[in-house]
Amino acid sequence: MPATALITRFAPSPTGALHLGNARTALFSWLAARASGGHFVLRVEDTDAGRSQDALLERQLDDLRWLGITWDEGPGVGGPHGPYRQSERGSIYAEALAKLEAGGQTYPCFCSPEELQLSRKVQLASGRPPRYARTCAGLSAVDVQRRIDSGAAPAIRFRVPDHRTVEFVDRIHGPQRFQSDDIGDFVIRRADGSVSFFLGNAVDDSAMGITLVLRGDDHLANTPRQLLLLEALGMPLPEYGHLPLVLAPSGTPLSKREGAASLTDLRAQGYLPDAICNYLIRLGHACGHDGWLAMDQLASHFDLARTSHSAARFDEAQLRHWQREAVTHSTDAQIEQWLGGHLDALQAGEERSAFVAVVKGNVLFPAEVDELVGVVVHDSVPVSADAKAQITEAGPDFFVSAGSLLATNAGDFKGWTRAIADATGRKGARLFMPLRSALTGATHGPELAPLVGLMGNARVLGRLERAQALAGK
Ligand code: GLU
Repeated sequence: MPATALITRFAPSPTGALHLGNARTALFSWLAARASGGHFVLRVEDTDAGRSQDALLERQLDDLRWLGITWDEGPGVGGPHGPYRQSERGSIYAEALAKLEAGGQTYPCFCSPEELQLSRKVQLASGRPPRYARTCAGLSAVDVQRRIDSGAAPAIRFRVPDHRTVEFVDRIHGPQRFQSDDIGDFVIRRADGSVSFFLGNAVDDSAMGITLVLRGDDHLANTPRQLLLLEALGMPLPEYGHLPLVLAPSGTPLSKREGAASLTDLRAQGYLPDAICNYLIRLGHACGHDGWLAMDQLASHFDLARTSHSAARFDEAQLRHWQREAVTHSTDAQIEQWLGGHLDALQAGEERSAFVAVVKGNVLFPAEVDELVGVVVHDSVPVSADAKAQITEAGPDFFVSAGSLLATNAGDFKGWTRAIADATGRKGARLFMPLRSALTGATHGPELAPLVGLMGNARVLGRLERAQALAGK
């Protein structure tokens, strides 16, 4: 690995679905590793046994793989720093806890949630930032033992050193400074014996050799705590970079209504993974390239230094733009696979391939081809109001001429339309719009010539007759 290579990671908690914000964090971490010739680790933060679910984990991993994000170490791959699920790393945390305890840097805390809540309220009411009031910091060993003997289960708190300034250079926001006196002694092991986020997350990043932690801005305030912990443990400190949040178009946090679609939902809608990656690499990152990027080109257009310091806003129009590009850059075989069951009514082989070639430029999402499949395989098609107006304007004779000229020009769309032009005096839009309206029921759509080829003469004739009747009314 080059000396400047970064070892990065993504550390999802399997308690919900991955949405675009998480996907961006994962993508940027992956790209930072790939761009520097480094290594990308996937770690599962499943210490919250009550909320973590294997099914959710499988879905998250599946969504990441679908997106094209591959990990060098992690679940299913292994690696020298495993296990990669926090629920299996209990002995590593126990060792860290023992070390902190031996150094006098921890103490048991018996405060109940109600007591803690009350203390917070009192501090807030007197205008102070709420911090743990160190109620249990000075308990004697005898006192602690007495409480444990009477059945109380303590949490373990980290004793935050007094009067320290914690400084670090955030790779996105620049120099940061925190006063340790503003940080209350925090829980590193819960009363139920599980390890807290602060400890598990910091110890793992360090023990797994992570050199750059990229994560959401919502974790910025956690970093000084974690640096103090690692320092107390004598463990190597990673660098940190906190990515600004992704907001909804209105500037509020992403919500179900606005932009918070999960990757699973986007995938079900038919978004292509490369479309999402092309969108995300430009979301709060000046990638310096306007055009389409294949997955293997993304890393060479990624530079952490060009990540924005301010929140990014989700923009569906942009995402759709990249979807259009992704469809355009897919091969016909890929499109056919993507359209999947939507092509069932067409014969596998030539008919499907011909259909794909016709519709490729007109489809953003698979469900959109259903109507066009209907145009090819059904006897009749619904006719839109616009199309009906075109048909009426052309009048019945136009369709009589078109129908009678079909047989002599079978398979020759150009010849056929030229003959219609000669017979009716119509040309350009005045010819093609009513013809398209009669044949497809719509005033817009893919190129007409190959579509007509797919429909076959009998169906074309049937539609012309129906248009003639419609125009005569
Ligand atoms: N499991 C944490 C989360 O999902 C990870 C935070 C981090 O990346 O450090 O928020």
